[in-house]
Amino acid sequence: MSDYKFLQGGGEMGELIRSIDWSNTPIGAVDSWPTELKIATGIMLSTPFPMYIAWGKEYIQLYNDGYRPILGSTKHPQAMGISTRETFAEIWHIIGSMFDGVMKGNAVGFSNFMFPLDRNGYVEECFFDFSYSPISDEDGNIGGVLVTVIETTEKVKGLKELQQTKHDLEDAKAETEGQRDQLKRFFMEAPAAICVNNGSDMVFELINPLYQQFFPERQLLGKPVLEALPEIKGPVYDILRGVYDNDQTFEGNELLIPIARYDGGPLEDRYFNFIYQPRHSANGNVDGVLVFAFEVTEMVNAKKELEKEKDKFKLAILAAELGTFDMDMEKGTMEWDKRCRTLFGIGHQDTVTYEKDFLEGLHPDDKERVSKVIERVFNKSESNGFYDVEYRTVGVEDQRVRWLRAKGQAYFDDQDKPYRFIGSVLEITEQKEGELRKNDFIAMVSHELKTPLTSLNGYIQLLQVKAKKNEDTYASGALIKVNQQVKKMTGMINGFLNVSQIEEGKISLNKSDFLLNDLVRETVENFKFISASHEITYQQNEPLYIYADYDRIEQVILNLLSNAVKYSPKGMHIVIECQFNNGMTQVSVKDEGMGIKSADVSKIFERFYRVDSNHTKAIAGFGIGLYLCAEIIRLHDGKIWVESESGKGSTFYFNLPKSKRELLA
Ligand code: ADP
Repeated sequence: MSDYKFLQGGGEMGELIRSIDWSNTPIGAVDSWPTELKIATGIMLSTPFPMYIAWGKEYIQLYNDGYRPILGSTKHPQAMGISTRETFAEIWHIIGSMFDGVMKGNAVGFSNFMFPLDRNGYVEECFFDFSYSPISDEDGNIGGVLVTVIETTEKVKGLKELQQTKHDLEDAKAETEGQRDQLKRFFMEAPAAICVNNGSDMVFELINPLYQQFFPERQLLGKPVLEALPEIKGPVYDILRGVYDNDQTFEGNELLIPIARYDGGPLEDRYFNFIYQPRHSANGNVDGVLVFAFEVTEMVNAKKELEKEKDKFKLAILAAELGTFDMDMEKGTMEWDKRCRTLFGIGHQDTVTYEKDFLEGLHPDDKERVSKVIERVFNKSESNGFYDVEYRTVGVEDQRVRWLRAKGQAYFDDQDKPYRFIGSVLEITEQKEGELRKNDFIAMVSHELKTPLTSLNGYIQLLQVKAKKNEDTYASGALIKVNQQVKKMTGMINGFLNVSQIEEGKISLNKSDFLLNDLVRETVENFKFISASHEITYQQNEPLYIYADYDRIEQVILNLLSNAVKYSPKGMHIVIECQFNNGMTQVSVKDEGMGIKSADVSKIFERFYRVDSNHTKAIAGFGIGLYLCAEIIRLHDGKIWVESESGKGSTFYFNLPKSKRELLA
């Protein structure tokens, strides 16, 4: 067969064609092939372009090496020499009519035409540029179809991918823009001041409103940082430059930046907390600086002010020679400053404790009293946690006895548990010694006066008897007045003696169980006998037993009644009442007199304190009555207080623990 010139060459397909016995095919033996088929086959085998012949009514196929890949892995080699209808059954509905048209002389051509070919074991979309043209003899009789074809599947797919990529790119761009918008919104609405400085000149590229507020009247946007804010040249600019040049984040804390609010304006010392952070381009190089800043000028100034105040406070404490203490009950620690340690005669700097240093440092005669006061401070029963007490310390190292006045305040949590106790101590040794000397003197004078007073009393009584006998009414009347004055004087002197006894701790209580109601009733009756100027009512409630010194409690009630009389106009009403209140027996004396101003209320129980007003000046007194009452009640573990409104009257209260006898009853 290789004898035929037109069948020579043609590579693999040429060989295949030659190997076929064409006489067994509808085309028939090669010898019988019409000239135009031979010519077409010859052209086909000699061209590297994909070419294919579909011959005769059956469209028997011949194809060249160039065409062979179009047949994939399943259609070749059996396609050679068989009908197109058979080989391309899956697309015959498309190409069949085209072939038929060609046979009638209608050539067709398409580019990127899609055929769903099953050529590799599965159906795939394949694209081709192709033309179907008739192969005709000299007379124009058409014997077959010449197909020239170039597969464009890869090209089309590439194009599609390109389009997809373009699409993806557009989507990504839209998303990036969305994100950029979001980021911008975040920047703009962020609660921190933010700006972006772009490029090596650090041009203000973005400024959020809070950043702009630092410089409300300055145009920053679009300007290099040094042009926009020339005053930052120096350390601040050097930091910014360093962040850009060395690719290193910088965090500034309360940094002073003298800066103007408007262009050319005065520089103000302003403080900022800020972060300078390098910004990177896609290739990783620094291309700008992000700035996050908070202005903290007010806070820094307030802190400075506080420091100044603290210094002043320290100086004041130093100047006043106050010692300070701070007890933290939660941590179980106690802090004493140097002065406080000195006042307890402690030279070391080791930690101090309540038990070992405070209680042990107290004078043995004061220890019990002071620890009781502190107990009351901590359970809030002492002036709502306020602490004001005088005591002696015995220096641990120097053995010196010092008088101190300590004032402090306990702080309580929601459950009324104390968690902190702070205060100060002041040395009052000199003042105290002066007072003691004064007390000694008063005690001595009072004592000395008592003897002549006693004999004066005796003589008055003698004279009264004599005057009565002589029916000397004038002398009798005068002697009654003298007697009253002597009684007053005796009362006063006894008062002074009581004060000094109390101060020296010499008062001893003579306690017994009795009915408080009886005591109050008897005292009121006796009092009414002496003073008839006011209307006194006793309101009797349930029986109240107390374990107390009868005479001392009587003294307290008398004192409160005589004050109620002294400080309210004649004819006014005074009400005395006993009742049980808050687990204690309570007595109250209510008057409708001048009342007490709130500023004086906390002081009237102090020794020698008298309210300073024209009104009170006209009333005789030394300011020791309430002090004595308070001391007597304190010795009984009770409390004394007053509720009063200036001009509307006062109610004095005291309470005492109820007796065990009543508890047993
Ligand atoms: P004295 O009455 O001798 O001055 P007190 O210690 O008894 O001393 O009282 C102290 C001060 O308290 C009095 O000077 C007076 O100003 C005020 N005071 C006491 N009781 C009353 C009262 N019932 N009404 C108004 N003021 C009072």
